[in-house]
Amino acid sequence: MKYIGAHISSSGGLEKAVLRAFKIRATAFSFFTRNQRQWTTPPLTEKKIYNFKQSCIKYKFTPQQILPHSSYLINLGHPIDYLLEKSRNAFIDEMIRCSQLGLIFLNFHPGSHLNKITESDCLLRISESINIALKNTKNIIAVIENTAGQGTNVGYCFEHLSEIIKNVDDKARVGVCIDTCHLFVSGYDLRTLDNCEKTFKKFNDLIGFKYLKGIHLNDSKKIFNSRVDRHENLGIGEIGELAFKWIIKNKNFYNIPMILETVDSTLWEKEIAWLRSQKI
Ligand SMILES: [Zn+2]
Ligand SMILES: [Zn+2]
Repeated sequence: MKYIGAHISSSGGLEKAVLRAFKIRATAFSFFTRNQRQWTTPPLTEKKIYNFKQSCIKYKFTPQQILPHSSYLINLGHPIDYLLEKSRNAFIDEMIRCSQLGLIFLNFHPGSHLNKITESDCLLRISESINIALKNTKNIIAVIENTAGQGTNVGYCFEHLSEIIKNVDDKARVGVCIDTCHLFVSGYDLRTLDNCEKTFKKFNDLIGFKYLKGIHLNDSKKIFNSRVDRHENLGIGEIGELAFKWIIKNKNFYNIPMILETVDSTLWEKEIAWLRSQKI
């Protein structure tokens, strides 16, 4: 199955995100389980959990089709111990929320070294953070996203993601989400079929498709290898439509949420229909 959708607003209630996804004919979606720009949010009530779960049943979304995204504030590789602790606690809280909602994934950006520690120390801290979170929760898979490599973010190459996974104790509960815009601006070309093949062969060699739990389908406003993260709607950015046609037809991307985070959300319904119309 191909699960295609977008990052949906959950304003007005988490169950509203499910309805909004249904309305644009999505078969996958992502959303924030809490305000992504605040450290603390009140815990989920029984009623909120019930409404979300009922909505998922009504509109036929299974946990396999839903990829919640964690807060941007969290830095699981933070160089300063008490701030690392703060991030770890917030991450555990998000994992618990996902678990309460009956979900199985939590997608997050790995972290930043802030020029205070080396990249490899930062990666080690991220693995430790994941280990702590997995020990404190049940069932949820920690899904690491590749980054554009802006500022001091780590996770901009497959080697980083594979290094993080290497030091996670429970390999069954760690995965990755590949963002095509981040991939392209961090130096993995996707502009020809040959480049698509090469890039994902590299991915398979260094990480492996068995770890792929989701994909963010975004074109890029910025040029190749620019390390600047600016999403564009499909086909009108620097990547172009060919890569998205290639991905959608490729069996390695079946049965995982494929999520649009493109800038103009009024185009999502059209983009989803276009992706779905690509025949093998
Ligand atoms: Zn993301
Ligand atoms: Zn991005």
